[in-house]
Amino acid sequence: MQTLGIYLHVPFCRTRCRYCDFYRVGENRARMDRFVSALAREIEGWAAHAGRRVDTVFLGGGTPSLLAPEEIGAILGWLANRFDVDPEAEVTAEANPSDLHPERLAGLRRAGVNRLSIGVQSFCDRELGLLGRRHDGARAAAVIAEARAAGFERLSLDLMVGIPAQTEASFAASLERAIALSPDHMSLYLLEVHGGSELDFLKRERPRLFPGEEAERRRYLRMRERLRAAGFRHYEISNFARPGAECRHNLRYWRSGEWLGLGPAAHSSLGGRRFRHPPDLERWLADPLAIEDLAADPATERVLLGLRLEEGVELGALAAAGVDEAEARRRADRLAPFVEIRGDRLRLRPEGYLVSNSVLAGLLG
Ligand code: SF4
Repeated sequence: MQTLGIYLHVPFCRTRCRYCDFYRVGENRARMDRFVSALAREIEGWAAHAGRRVDTVFLGGGTPSLLAPEEIGAILGWLANRFDVDPEAEVTAEANPSDLHPERLAGLRRAGVNRLSIGVQSFCDRELGLLGRRHDGARAAAVIAEARAAGFERLSLDLMVGIPAQTEASFAASLERAIALSPDHMSLYLLEVHGGSELDFLKRERPRLFPGEEAERRRYLRMRERLRAAGFRHYEISNFARPGAECRHNLRYWRSGEWLGLGPAAHSSLGGRRFRHPPDLERWLADPLAIEDLAADPATERVLLGLRLEEGVELGALAAAGVDEAEARRRADRLAPFVEIRGDRLRLRPEGYLVSNSVLAGLLG
């Protein structure tokens, strides 16, 4: 039986970032206490998967770093009681630089977290202010050294392309500062402006603050070359890693592995079935085992997710999704600037990463 990953959604945030589209609620100590108790009940309730081998755990959010290290230690202990957690399991926590200080970092390491994904986004204070982040560039830089001193060897930094007021120079400066801090992994996202968000309002009021698509494209491709020159492998559309430092948990999603999601709004993929907990903290607190089935088309998903990876997908996966090999080759020829076939695998070219939705529609449509 294949191994299992555990995703844990911690939905609390101290403030709301202007670009946020995740399920989250305001920080509230009483509700956080109830959340931790309900997690104990949820973990205990997954009796059908008791003893299953778990080799990745990912605490995402929201803001997992708002939980006390002792709470995270207790949660990891409950997981170890219910599942067969590999002693070498990758245990990642997303963290906000403003929540981390040496004592808390040491506590997280003692609790069993061995990888941090730090939401830096930019080292430019003006850009961070426009995003509604709570930290500044100096804090983000300091936290990396503090995390190393606390014993974290596996560190990932998030940066964003397309932030309002970002220029070629300010983006290059953030990127160079990130590289100089020597993380083993970096995630670089294009900022998405969701309709109705504060950023959407700002974009309509002051469109010139936002870099256009062509500027984003240039930054993305330049950043890719710079990171490759610095020894990172571009292993997924938005992710770069030093050899061997790829995020094993996220690879599980892209390679259509199995995972169990705990907490409100968390999705799961088990035994060919997709389901989620309702994105509603109070409903989840009342019944942390309540789930809703989600429509699934595993063959198509395998192609959509697999093509995010540098390794691409086997032509057999396209055939399973209804596009036989001859047709896949014809479509790949038409989309030649964006995709390529090597041996029996089809993969996106760098230019294809930037228009992946249209390319995928062209391949599968
Ligand atoms: S910390 Fe993350 S989840 Fe919370 S508001 Fe900001 S982007 Fe959203």
